[in-house]
Amino acid sequence: AFEGLSERLENSFKKLRAKGKLTEADVKEAMREVRLALLEADVNYKVAKEFTNKVTERAIGDDVMENLTPGQMVIKIVNEELTELMGGTESRLSIAKHPPTVLMMCGLQGSGKTTHSGKLALKLKKDGHRPLLVACDVYRPAAIKQLQVVGSQIDVPVFEMGTINPVNIAEEAVKHAKDHGYDYVIIDTAGRLHIDEALMEELQNIRSTVHPNEILLVIDAMTGQDAVNVAKSFNESLGIDGVILTKLDGDTRGGAALSVRAVTGKPIKFVGTGEKLENLEVFHPARMASRILGMGDVLSFIEKAEMALDEKKAAELEKKLAKNKFDFNDLLDQFEQIERMGSLKDTIKMIPGIGKQIKDEDIDERAFDRLRCIIYSMTKQERANPEIINPSRKRRIAAGSGTSIEDVNKLMTQFKQMQKMVKQVGGRKGPKVSKKMRR
Ligand code: GDP
Ligand code: MG
Repeated sequence: AFEGLSERLENSFKKLRAKGKLTEADVKEAMREVRLALLEADVNYKVAKEFTNKVTERAIGDDVMENLTPGQMVIKIVNEELTELMGGTESRLSIAKHPPTVLMMCGLQGSGKTTHSGKLALKLKKDGHRPLLVACDVYRPAAIKQLQVVGSQIDVPVFEMGTINPVNIAEEAVKHAKDHGYDYVIIDTAGRLHIDEALMEELQNIRSTVHPNEILLVIDAMTGQDAVNVAKSFNESLGIDGVILTKLDGDTRGGAALSVRAVTGKPIKFVGTGEKLENLEVFHPARMASRILGMGDVLSFIEKAEMALDEKKAAELEKKLAKNKFDFNDLLDQFEQIERMGSLKDTIKMIPGIGKQIKDEDIDERAFDRLRCIIYSMTKQERANPEIINPSRKRRIAAGSGTSIEDVNKLMTQFKQMQKMVKQVGGRKGPKVSKKMRR
C-alpha cells in the first residue's frame, strides 16, 4: 500500500528541497501536486483540499519562509498534518468498569469481521486476557463453522447457539462470560453486501441489548472511498467507536486510511496486514504518516538525536575520530546515546533509508543488552586497548558476561569493522558529526 502516493510526494518534495528560498508560489505549486497525489491515492476530495489548504496556510505563515531550510520545514508540516489527519495519537480500546468488556464487530460481508474477531482475540490472549468469541452471524451457513475454526486455531472458545435470533445469542454470551470469568466478549456479527435497513436494525438491537464498550467497524482498505462511505453510514445509523482497516497488505492505494478519520470523526484503531491471525497492528498515525512520506521519520529522528547527543561527548568523539582512535568506551557511549533516544526499535525505524525496511522482529533489544554486558565484563585496559584481548581474555569475558566465546568473537569482529569505518570517516577532512547534530 501507499507506494504510489509515497513516490509522488517524494517527487514534489525533491523540488522543494532543492530551493534555497521559497516563495508563496513555490509552496502553492507543491501543494497542488500534493493534492493531486492524494486524489490519485483515492483520498476523499474534500479531505485532500482541506488538508493542502491547512498546510499552505501554515507554511506561508510562521517563519517558515525565512527558515534556512524552508523545503524541509514544509515537509515537516506535511508530516505533522498527515499525522493529525489520521487522528494524531493512537486510540486504545476502552475497557468495561465491570468485566467483561464487550467488543462488537460490524461491517459489510467480506470486510474481515470474522478474521479480525480472531485476530483481536489472539492479541488479547497474548496480553493475558480471557476472550470469548461469539457467533452472531446466523445467516451464512458456514459462518459459525468459520468462527469455530478461527477459535480452535488460537485456542479461544466460541459461544454459539445455532441460528436463533442473534440478539439473544449476544445476550446469553455476555451472561456466559460473566459466569465463566471471560473478561472480553467479541461479537462477530453478520454483514451484507450492501448496507440495508434489516442489517442496521439487527445491529442496533444487539447494541441496545448488550451495550458494547466498543463498536468496531471493519472496513476493507482495498475498496477505497467506498469503505469511507460505508464508515460514514454505519456511524450515522449505528454509532461506531473505531475502525479496523483490513487488507492493508494488498494492492490498496491507501486513501481510506487517510480519509476515514476526517470523514467520520472516528479513529482507526487497528489495521489488518494479512490473512494470518497474527497480522494485526495497532494503528499509529505518526508512523503511518512517516511511512507514507516514505523517508523514515527524518525530522523527528534529527530532533531526537539533537536532544540526546551530549555536546561534550560529541566533541570528545570528534577528537578521537580525528586521531583515528575508537575504543570500547566510545562504543558504550554510543549505546548510551541510543538508549537516551528511546527504544532501540523506534530509533532504528526512524533512520532514513533503512528504517522502513526493518521489521520489529528483526530488532532484538536483548541482543543490544548482551553486547553491553560483554563490554562491561572487560577491564578498563581492555576497553581502551581492544587489541590486547587474546583468547584467554575472551574466555574470561564470556564467562563474566554469561555469554559464549562465539558471542565475544562476534562483537570483536563487528567492532573491528566499526573501527575501520571510523578510520575512514576520521581520515577525511573534518569530523563527521555535523553542526546540526550538535546544535
Ligand atoms: P467477514 O465476511 O467480514 O467475516 O470477512 P472474513 O473475516 O470472512 O474475511 C473475508 C476474506 O478476507 C477472507 O478470505 C480473509 O482471509 C480475508 N482477509 C481478512 N483480513 C485480511 C487482511 O488483513 N489481509 C488479507 N490479505 N486478507 C484478509
Ligand atoms: Mg464473517
